[in-house]
Amino acid sequence: MSFRATVLTLYPEMFPGALGLSLSGRGLADGRWSLDTVQIRDFATDRHRSVDDTPAGGGAGMVLKPEVLARAIDHASPPGDERPRLLMSPRGRPLTQNRVRELAAGPGALIVCGRFEGVDQRVIEARNLEEVSIGDYILSGGEPAALVLLDAIVRLLPGVMGNAASGEEESFENGLLEHPHYTRPQDFEGVPIPDVLISGNHGKIAKWRREQAKLLTRERRPDLL
Ligand code: SAH
Repeated sequence: MSFRATVLTLYPEMFPGALGLSLSGRGLADGRWSLDTVQIRDFATDRHRSVDDTPAGGGAGMVLKPEVLARAIDHASPPGDERPRLLMSPRGRPLTQNRVRELAAGPGALIVCGRFEGVDQRVIEARNLEEVSIGDYILSGGEPAALVLLDAIVRLLPGVMGNAASGEEESFENGLLEHPHYTRPQDFEGVPIPDVLISGNHGKIAKWRREQAKLLTRERRPDLL
């Protein structure tokens, strides 16, 4: 069974979006993974099909109503669905390559995209949603975050990128940022490719790359060391 993603959103037109192109798009067309969207608004029951309401306690913005979202989740993820249920949220655990690998190794994911000020706390708890953040900044909705999460997962799926995605030298795969890359021409605006890379000595090249990776990580992301 290939990886199955179901995205709950008020804007299904945003999917597959960028994931319909390039290697992820080819993988989608080839059935290496699948993507369905569920329109949350279809689970509203009042005359105006409302999905949000004012925050209890007052304040700016609107909050996604719990019962509407709960019905959408129950529809998309009936009992027996083993897929993790994720809620894109700036309050969530920051996404890491490790978590991406775990998710890619599993059956798929149900991904809830928030909007407005967020979703009612009770549905997060009642439906056991794992909050996932893609970084310390605020988006206007969970959809771009879901696209980021899925992009990171899909490139690891068998057959989507070939060997390219499994490289151990990729940033974060060994707790380091990746070494710099070069390609022809040998002279670019007076700057040559480092000698070691054209030496043909694979031992020396590997050593140089490891050193560069460590240097770069110490300089830019000492928190990773
Ligand atoms: N009031 C909230 C932010 C709401 S932003 C707060 O201060 O925490 C609206 C929606 O965008 C969120 O419900 C979430 O689904 C999505 N979103 C915003 N920033 C995000 C981030 N960094 N990572 C993941 N999802 C995010």
